[in-house]
Amino acid sequence: MYFRYDDFIIHAVNRSNAVRLSLRVHANGDEVSLTIPPWATKSHIMRFLDENREWLREHAPKVSDFHPSYAAGEEHLLFGEWVTLGENGIPTGQAFVEYRLEKLKDLLNDYFVTYQMRMRIPNIQRVTIKDMKSRWGSCRPSTGTISMASNLAMIPKECVEYIVVHELAHMHHPDHSPAFYAEVERYMPDWKERSDRMSGMDLRPRKGKSK
Ligand SMILES: [Zn+2]
Repeated sequence: MYFRYDDFIIHAVNRSNAVRLSLRVHANGDEVSLTIPPWATKSHIMRFLDENREWLREHAPKVSDFHPSYAAGEEHLLFGEWVTLGENGIPTGQAFVEYRLEKLKDLLNDYFVTYQMRMRIPNIQRVTIKDMKSRWGSCRPSTGTISMASNLAMIPKECVEYIVVHELAHMHHPDHSPAFYAEVERYMPDWKERSDRMSGMDLRPRKGKSK
C-alpha cells in the first residue's frame, strides 16, 4: 500500500523473507518503495524513515509535487478506473473536473436515497461535496449536515458506498464505538474489505503515454 510520511509518498511492501528495512527507487523512477521485514514495528519504520529523510528528499515523490494539468492524454482515476482525458468522450480541462463531479453527485444521490431509507435516517438537511485533503467525509448529527470529499470520485463505487453508510451511521453514533461499527455492519457486512481496499490508494494522476 501507499502511505504518506511527511510530504512524501512511499510504497510499502511487506516481505516475509526480508532481513532489514530498505528503501529503493522503483524501476520507472516515479516511486520509492520501502521493503518491510516481518519484525519491523511501526516505530522501527518511523525511526528508519527519520534517519533517511535526506535520501527521501532527493528521491521520493512528494504530495505537493502533484499538479494535474487535465490536458489531453493525462490519466485520471474515475471510480477506481483509469481514464484518459480527451479519449472515449472523456473531456479535458475544467470540463473534466465538472464531469467527474456530476458523476459523483449522481452516485451519492442514489446511495443516500437508498441508505437513508434502509437505515431509517430521515433527518438529513444537507449533503455537500467539498475538497477535503485528509478525510473522505464528515457528519454533524446536531445539524443533520454531511460533507463528502470530492476525491471520492476517484475511488471504486463500492468504497464510496461504504463512506455513505459510514457517515449515515454517525447520525446515530457520533463516535467510532463498537455500537457504531455494529450499525455499519448491519447494513454492509463487508465494510471492512471495502475500507481496506481504499486505504493507501495512490490517487495521483499519471502523465500518460502522449506528452
Ligand atoms: Zn467516522
